[in-house]
Amino acid sequence: MRDFNSEKEIIEAFKNITIWKNGDKRAPHKPLLILLSLAGVQRKEQRLVSFEEIEPRLKRLLSRFDRKGNGVHPEYPFFHLQSDDFWEIAGSGPIEDILKSGSKKRSPSAKTLREGHTMGGFSEQLYMKLRDNPELVNQLAHRILDGHFPTSLHEDILDEVGMPWVVTLKKKRDPEFRSMIMRIYDRRCAICGYDGRLGDINLCLEAAHVKWHAAGGPDEMDNGLALCSLHHKALDSGAIGIDDDDRIIVSQEINGSHGISDWFLSYLGKQIRKPQDGQPGVLKEYKEWHRTQVFRGPGRHFE
Ligand SMILES: [Zn+2]
Repeated sequence: MRDFNSEKEIIEAFKNITIWKNGDKRAPHKPLLILLSLAGVQRKEQRLVSFEEIEPRLKRLLSRFDRKGNGVHPEYPFFHLQSDDFWEIAGSGPIEDILKSGSKKRSPSAKTLREGHTMGGFSEQLYMKLRDNPELVNQLAHRILDGHFPTSLHEDILDEVGMPWVVTLKKKRDPEFRSMIMRIYDRRCAICGYDGRLGDINLCLEAAHVKWHAAGGPDEMDNGLALCSLHHKALDSGAIGIDDDDRIIVSQEINGSHGISDWFLSYLGKQIRKPQDGQPGVLKEYKEWHRTQVFRGPGRHFE
C-alpha cells in the first residue's frame, strides 16, 4: 500500500486509476466503486465492507451507469482496485490463495469473493486521511464524476451512491429522497405523465426539488416532484412553475418552433398530478419560493 503525504498525492492517485479501455469503450467500474466507498467514508461507515454487502449496490450502479454490453461484474472493481495501491482486500479460502500468490491479474468470481467472506476498502492510512477531511472527499467525488461521467448523470449517480449533490458539509442530502418521490408519484412525470423505462429502469425521470436544495429546500415529500428530465430542467430554469392551486404556469419567455406547444403550452393551467393517496402535495411556501426566486415571470395567461 502506498503512503500518502499530501492531499495532492491523493488527488493524483485517484486521477490515475487505471481504467480499462478498448477503443471508445469505457468501464466505469472503478470510479463507481470509489464513489460508493467515498459515500461510506462520508457517512463514517466502517473502513472495510464485505463483498456480499456491497455487491447488490454496486451491481445496481453498474447496471445503471455502465454500458450494457459490459455485463454486470461487481467483482471486477472490488478485486482489481487493489492494483492502484490504495485499496486492500482480505478473505479466506481460495481468495486467500489468490491474494497470497500476489497475482493481481487473476480475476476471482463473485462466488469466490462471497464464499471467502472477502472484505475490501481503502487502505487504513488513506481512510483516516479521508475521514478527517470531508472537503477532500467531496472534491474527489466531483473529480471522479467530472472525469468519468457526463454532467447530466452526476446527480443521478450521487443519488444512487447516497452522496449529497450540493457540496455543503452541514446539510446532508437524504438518499431516500429520490426513491420516496418516485414512489409517491407512481414513477411518472407530475406534469406530462411520462413514464418511460429502459428495461426496468426509469429513463429520464428525476426527483426534483421545488425549493432548491442549494437554497435550503428540504429532502421532504412536500418539496419534491417526480418529473421527466425536460420538465425538471424547465422547472429549475424557471420556464415553468406551479401556482397555489397546483396549476402549471408557463413563462412568457418560452418560445421555439417545434415541441413548445406539445411539451409546454398544452399543460398551461392544468393541474399537476397528485401524489398517491394521503401523501402531501408540494407545500405552498416552496411553490411560492420557486415562483418568486426562479420562475421567469410573467406567466402566460390562462382560463
Ligand atoms: Zn414531463
